[in-house]
Amino acid sequence: MNIIIFGPPGAGKGTQSEFIVKKFNLFKLSTGDLLREEINKETSLGLKITSIVNSGSLVSDDIINSLIENIVSNQTYKNKIIFDGYPRNLPQAENLNKLLLKYDQRIDIVIRLKVSLNVIKKRITGRVICSKCGKTFNEFFNPPKDNEKCCKKEFLQKRDDDNVDVAIKRFETYENSTEPVLDFYKKMNLVKDVNGEIDIESIYSKINDYLSVIEG
Ligand code: AMP
Repeated sequence: MNIIIFGPPGAGKGTQSEFIVKKFNLFKLSTGDLLREEINKETSLGLKITSIVNSGSLVSDDIINSLIENIVSNQTYKNKIIFDGYPRNLPQAENLNKLLLKYDQRIDIVIRLKVSLNVIKKRITGRVICSKCGKTFNEFFNPPKDNEKCCKKEFLQKRDDDNVDVAIKRFETYENSTEPVLDFYKKMNLVKDVNGEIDIESIYSKINDYLSVIEG
């Protein structure tokens, strides 16, 4: 099963992906994570894209599409991918379709998390990520538990693009470039809407219902 988890920045795609990956034994392909890895390692690609990512604009399709092909072409991940943060515009969606065809795969479902800009602002400004294990928390709504083994306070980091101004810019980028992607998948009858403003467990429960039907 290949899944796309879709929604604005701060919708909870990363958090829900973690649950889905565990339950359905999938591989999470987050283009944002791949780009941040390049930035943190200060590779030549990383240096080229730092200012773009930190301003909330989109990195060029060529860069993104080649990152994607590396993974889609890998037999280990065949029909086991959850796409998080990709495709983000129509050309990327068309590219993904071509790649999946080339490697004899398809998308089974697009889960769309619906969240308003007001909720997103609160979520993004509170978001912290454990630098050791990559788990995402929110300082206000979902802080790490005191007895958490790994995610201690000193390991929690904020993303450079997680501030209100850039959050608004990223939301606008989403609305302008990303919504047409939904129409692309609606035509293929693949989109399932999930309210992303309810609590984390209830959101996951709805997603789980959809995915369990596909898994049979
Ligand atoms: P994310 O972690 O998905 O919120 O992505 C963080 C940032 O990485 C975005 O604001 C973009 O600058 C860049 N990015 C991530 N995925 C893509 C993509 N599919 N196409 C273009 N830029 C992307």
